[in-house]
This record gives sequence, structure tokens and C-alpha cells, in this order.
Amino acid sequence: PAGPELTALQHADVAALLPVPGGASDKYRRGVVGIAAGSARYPGAAVLAVAGALRGGAGAVRYVGPAGDAVIARFPGTLVSDRGPRQAGRVQAWVVGPGAGDDAKTVAEVLTADVPVLIDADGLRLADADAVRARKAPTLMTPHAGEAAALLGVAREEVEGARLRCVRELAARYRATVLLKGSTTLVADAGGEGAVRVNATGTAWLATAGSGDVLSGLAGSLLAAGLDALDAGSAGAYLHGLAGRFAADGAPVGAHEVAGAIQQAWRSVG
Ligand code: AMP
Ligand code: MG
Repeated sequence: PAGPELTALQHADVAALLPVPGGASDKYRRGVVGIAAGSARYPGAAVLAVAGALRGGAGAVRYVGPAGDAVIARFPGTLVSDRGPRQAGRVQAWVVGPGAGDDAKTVAEVLTADVPVLIDADGLRLADADAVRARKAPTLMTPHAGEAAALLGVAREEVEGARLRCVRELAARYRATVLLKGSTTLVADAGGEGAVRVNATGTAWLATAGSGDVLSGLAGSLLAAGLDALDAGSAGAYLHGLAGRFAADGAPVGAHEVAGAIQQAWRSVG
């Protein structure tokens, strides 16, 4: 490709992307993000994705799935629906997959939505590749190296040894924006031909269970607020990495604390 292969966002770039409500804003205009995540086995993934989404700039978070009670207990402002994603009411972007277990039906339903969709975790395994390619609205996929390897049908070591090539390959195969997580995060726009964004704001303390679920909610919320998939993914990774640094501050940290520190990350950028 022409131009640099890798570009990095700076504070000022992210500041310019962050949605800030104005006098004419109401919660619907700020965007509603739908979270289809969690299962009886993994209710915490739903809670963490909602936690990330609440701090991501959308005006409302709508939750569909079996962990509604756990979500409401922690975040009373969440709009909880006991219907499937098609009947849940209007959303401007969906997040599907964290802790979803084997709920392929929900994943398939979300993929038919005519709004941006972020697919993470179990959703990556459950999503039909043709259904992803057939989508008209943008798709953002957020695998870690193991999930990327499964999608490509190669060993994890192969992805870790060729991250730039693999993120581009996935973006081309799925015609989706792909965010490859790791000690640095790479974001390739759909098709895989443009410059790849690299984010290095994170810390190894982010290698903790549930950390990626927080990122999926955060980036999904930015999608709902109107950022395109490349910007939502890269700004989300930037804030998530900073939040990890602030929350950890040199000591072990839980994913819920990373979500809580997104506000500090946002303030430090804006
Ligand atoms: P997941 O594996 O889905 O829980 O996502 C883990 C999150 O933590 C991703 O945002 C990764 O980029 C981040 N992460 C994991 N390990 C590291 C590391 N060694 N350095 C920086 N960030 C990391
Ligand atoms: Mg994950």
C-alpha cells in the first residue's frame, strides 16, 4: 500500500474524535448502544461490557440477554430488554459476543441489523463468515491472537509472529474493520488495504480476565455515538489502554476497575 503501513493516534487526534454532548443533545441523539452479551455461565461479561459502554459516550445502553438482573443491580440506568435483539427497540450500534457461550441465534440476529456491529469473543466463533461479509453496515471485529488464529485456521504463534499481515488478512476476508488485541493493538480498516492504526497506550496489567469485554462495550459505545469503525476501534483502544494504566498504577487490577478508570482516561485526553 502507498503511504505508511502503520499510523498511531495521539492525544489530540483522540480528543477530536470523542463525542461531547451539546445543548441540543438528548440521550437518543447521543446514540443508543445495544449489548448482546453474557450467559448463565458468564454473566460477568455482560456486566463488564455494559460498564465499558456506559463510559463510551452513547446516551443510553440497552442490554439484551440472560444477565439482565446482574446488569441492573450494578448499573441501574441500563435499559434491559427480555426480548431478542430484533425486538429490543432502536439502537445505533450493537456489541455482540462477550460471554455469549453458544447463543448462535442471537449472534445471527444481530448480524442482520442495519447499524454498525462490533463482534467479540464467543461472537467471533459463532458468526457465520458469509453473514458478516454480506452486511451493509460497518462491522468491527475485536479478536485477541488466539481468536484471530481460530478465524484464520492457523496456530496462535503464526498470528503472533505476523500480526500486521494477519490483521490485514482478516479485514480482507471478512470485509470488516479488525482490531487485533495484544501488548499493542492493531486496527485495520475493512478490506485491509489502508494504513493500519497501532495503539500502544496499554499496560501488561490489562492481561486480566474481562479486560477485553470492557473494550468491546467502550468501542461499541463510540460506534453508537457516530464514530466510524476505524476511529471507534482505535480511539477505544487508546482510552482502554490509558484506563488500564490509571487503574493499575503499577499494581494488579481487575477489569471492573479498568472500566471505572475510563472517565479518568477521557478527561486526560479531552
Ligand atoms: P481479552 O483477551 O479479550 O480479555 O483482551 C485483553 C485486553 O488487554 C486487550 O485490550 C489487550 O490489548 C490488552 N492486553 C492484554 N495483554 C496486554 C499486554 N501485555 N500489554 C498491553 N495490553 C494488553
Ligand atoms: Mg476477550
